[in-house]
Amino acid sequence: MKLIAGVDIGNSTTEVCVGGVASDGTLEFLSSVSRFTTGTKGTVDNVAGIKTALEMAMEKLNRPVGDLSLIRINEAAPVIGDTAMETITETIITDSSMIGHNPSTPAGAGTAVGELLSIRHLGQGDTGTPYIVVADRSVTYEAVAELLNKAMERMQIVGVILQADEAVLVENRLKKKIPIIDEVRNVDMIPEHKMAAIEVALTGDSVRMLSNPYGIATLLDLDAEDTKAVTPIAKSLIGKSSAVVIKTPHGNVKENVLPAGEITIVSKDGNRRTINIDEGAVPIMNLLEESGEIQDMVGEAETNVGNMLSGIKNNMENLTSEQTGSVHITDILAVDTLAPVLISGALAGETCMEKAVGIAAMVKTKQLPMERIAQVLTEQIHVSVKVAGVEAVMATLGAMTTPGTTLPLAILDLGGGSTDAAMIDETGTVRMTHKAGAGELVSMLIQIELGLHSRTTAEEIKKYPVGRVESLFHMRLENGGMHFFEEAIDPRLFGSVVLIEPHDLIKIEENVAMEKIIQVRKEAKQKVFVRNALRALREIAPEHNIKKIPNIVLVGGSAEDFEVPEMLMEELAKYKIVCGRGNIRRTEGPRNAVATGLVLSYIGGKHDDE
Ligand code: ADP
Ligand code: MG
Repeated sequence: MKLIAGVDIGNSTTEVCVGGVASDGTLEFLSSVSRFTTGTKGTVDNVAGIKTALEMAMEKLNRPVGDLSLIRINEAAPVIGDTAMETITETIITDSSMIGHNPSTPAGAGTAVGELLSIRHLGQGDTGTPYIVVADRSVTYEAVAELLNKAMERMQIVGVILQADEAVLVENRLKKKIPIIDEVRNVDMIPEHKMAAIEVALTGDSVRMLSNPYGIATLLDLDAEDTKAVTPIAKSLIGKSSAVVIKTPHGNVKENVLPAGEITIVSKDGNRRTINIDEGAVPIMNLLEESGEIQDMVGEAETNVGNMLSGIKNNMENLTSEQTGSVHITDILAVDTLAPVLISGALAGETCMEKAVGIAAMVKTKQLPMERIAQVLTEQIHVSVKVAGVEAVMATLGAMTTPGTTLPLAILDLGGGSTDAAMIDETGTVRMTHKAGAGELVSMLIQIELGLHSRTTAEEIKKYPVGRVESLFHMRLENGGMHFFEEAIDPRLFGSVVLIEPHDLIKIEENVAMEKIIQVRKEAKQKVFVRNALRALREIAPEHNIKKIPNIVLVGGSAEDFEVPEMLMEELAKYKIVCGRGNIRRTEGPRNAVATGLVLSYIGGKHDDE
């Protein structure tokens, strides 16, 4: 029996399928493997990942890689959709006249306005002025309480700001109850003798005065212009349990704006259309559709989007060692999102959420050097390697091994960087398209909108449902249902929002409400996959009419998603289309379509190893 391997090199994943061909020509699938792609798709760096995947697949058969008669690798589409995402927003760098802060365990409740005074200078305070006293970590909570109690007999102390996490310890020792805010890391940045307002919310509530520009104006006596400048700070304090806003001298306000910029779409017919990113995702996508087939896209110089697009092109030129100017951007997906913007002057790195546009771009190079990969691979493992078959066609061949499918058939390949679609009819005619934006853009949107530190957490939120552990024995599920545990679970999970992985519960360390996670996650998937599916299907459908596509098989890593296939099914039901997650070879789920197609086409083809 002859052993043939199909290898699919994707942006994210390298997949292998090994088939055995008997002397009578019958084919049997023997093993398959999936590994992370090493390096950028289409570069020689991929060889390392391919070798490991092949070794793993052959190990399952207890055979060395050298026993393979032939390796067939995909003619990868010369389009790459990853590394090309950024959030474009007008960045306002304001040297604000205010600073805000949000500690998690303040004490007392209410608002206070007063002049800032260091605990070391209590003696300088006069009797007629209300003071907010600032204490750094070097003064113990006992000493702070004692000094304050003594000073309160003589002067008016209305609030306290502490560097240490000791608000409650100080409060318990004070004779008079006043709002106390702690955990102000950069306490040394607080300017003495300036006016400040502090607010501590009642338990379970959030600040009301300091999260409202007019509230800040009321407390700190601001004019209309200062009130406008303080709006981002008010926004950043929404939902916080406590806050400090300090009024610094007028005239300190400096603004430096890097504009979002304009993007120019150059059509194949030579027409140029220009739009400002500030217009938002919908007008951008409408203009793109109006532009027909696209030659290239360019961003305005010295703007956010200009920097982003030229960065992508340069990066791709370097990776594929193509000449400057030979890499083009043939598609983008713009989505409306919210991104955190750092407020300068913040005491603890506070941000406020500003409207932004997220962009994924599709880069087209001249031709990916797949032949070069084949050559290097042959040299290293001494097996003949052929570049065989267009990726989209191979994916369709593989998808047809899903039970219940028939021609004409369309596939949607939901990958990491791009959403690809192909349609094959009874005569074997294939139409295909590649759209920017897929699983990675979804993860990026989740990370940005939830303000997560790590992309890994965002990936996990994308992949698994969430629940809230309400006792050691039960958990509230996303759909409102309840799950009971037979044994008490880890007490550290108590009260937390957790990701429900198949064999484990993972605590989400960030303090985000479960409802917010669900909303952001679903919206991100809708924005990327539903919109891209419709764009792609319209392009490949007979007469661009989606209703003329009878059935669609979903393949690729993102088709494994627990809710994306349902979202697409719901949307496509409007067009009376049969659509579902593929089950390649009845066993592989939506994975391994291209690799399987590569092995199948060997049987159907003219045996290119001979
Ligand atoms: P490519 O063909 O471009 O290499 P893949 O088909 O391997 O891409 O898809 C990669 C994408 O699939 C990534 O964005 C990854 O996050 C996503 N993905 C993988 N498994 C799952 C899953 N169980 N649920 C949701 N998304 C997933
Ligand atoms: Mg793929």
